[in-house]
Amino acid sequence: MRKNIKVFKFGGASVKDAEAIRNVANILKGYKKEQLLIVVSAMGKSTNALEKVVHAFFDKKEDSKDILKEIQNQHIAISKELIVENAQLEKEISKIIAPVNRLLQKESDRGYDFIYDQIVSLGELLSTKIVSAFLSKEKLTNHWLDARKIIKTDNTYREGNVNWESTQRNISRNVNALLKKSGFVITQGFIGSSEEKATITLGREGSDFTAAIFSYCLDAESMSIWKDVPGILTGDPRLFKKVEKIDRLSYKEAIEMTYYGAKVIHPKTIKPLQNKSIPMYVKSFVDPGGEGTFIGADVDAFYPPVVVVEREQVMLQISTKDFSFVAEHHLSFIFKLFTKYRTKVNMMQNMAISFSVCVTIKDLERLTKLINELKETFNVVVEKDLELITIRHYHKSVIEQMKKHKIVMLEERIRHTIQMVMKDVPKMERK
Ligand code: ASP
Ligand code: MG
Repeated sequence: MRKNIKVFKFGGASVKDAEAIRNVANILKGYKKEQLLIVVSAMGKSTNALEKVVHAFFDKKEDSKDILKEIQNQHIAISKELIVENAQLEKEISKIIAPVNRLLQKESDRGYDFIYDQIVSLGELLSTKIVSAFLSKEKLTNHWLDARKIIKTDNTYREGNVNWESTQRNISRNVNALLKKSGFVITQGFIGSSEEKATITLGREGSDFTAAIFSYCLDAESMSIWKDVPGILTGDPRLFKKVEKIDRLSYKEAIEMTYYGAKVIHPKTIKPLQNKSIPMYVKSFVDPGGEGTFIGADVDAFYPPVVVVEREQVMLQISTKDFSFVAEHHLSFIFKLFTKYRTKVNMMQNMAISFSVCVTIKDLERLTKLINELKETFNVVVEKDLELITIRHYHKSVIEQMKKHKIVMLEERIRHTIQMVMKDVPKMERK
């Protein structure tokens, strides 16, 4: 049965500094009477900053402890701006950071991904502590919930796969009861705990997914993501001058868009919501009264062309060494390697003696290992600095516009979608 519970998710931009956090509190004042579970991301770019700590720890070029100290100071500065008497909060900030400080003292025999999660997860723990303390100061009663006690995954660090059964059990047992008390429940996006009970993350930008997990397991009435844009747009406003807001989207359209790399919502977010027909809203924290975008079932809309640009693409042209055809057993072998190195194929094309794929450089080290292993069996030509452009509901004119000053390396057209892997025409050769 659907309950009167709402799930909100506030992303990094909405809590990036003291002023932004005050704005979040103002929005929440309008929901005092609701049963609300609030998922919060790390502040601003602090996840990127924490990644620098990880790099420094492994490269040993810089002192990882100094970078962490700097991050700690930034958080303390914001907490001071929000709460003058912040000794208690400062203590809690130090307490959250202490285990990572200890971890940085000595070399570890655990792998990169494990260490990464222990460090990078600090962002959400800190942001939620600060937001929670400030809400309390503003007389907004709330309960800080450690998401690691609730969201359970396997041991795939940096990309934990949710164990839905135990997560559901934890939510039914603990979160429902918390929500029944007066006040909001505030928790972290992006993090959970592994089978061996260590902190794990769900993959970059995973806080939307966290909100969807809670929405699903709580049978929420709706889920809202608060962003710095008025809703879902027809293109990235940083890349295109003319973009429009889409008022209504079907789950299907939303899952397609995010699958092709639209950055507005994490691609894993839609499925749990669709499975329980939970409506989702993308709303603006700058204009909280605005309509935003509604995502749900049975939306029968006429969609304008939507353009998704994915940078940092690489094309691998994989060919047999002995001029034999690329046959099924080769493909099966190739895909096993893609699975082993957790590399998602964005586009592919099969030719007589070669097979071309386009992938995103997410983790250069992992990709290099994949290419080296492929090279043991095949010839591999690597083409870098490419862009993958996907246009949903394309028109000829949009395609022409996107192709300007570009060389198309790979193209595929299906009914509602065209995808093109492209390279810039060098400036000197442009007409
Ligand atoms: N803080 C994490 C990230 O930046 C998760 C999120 O923001 O969704 O990737
Ligand atoms: Mg973030």
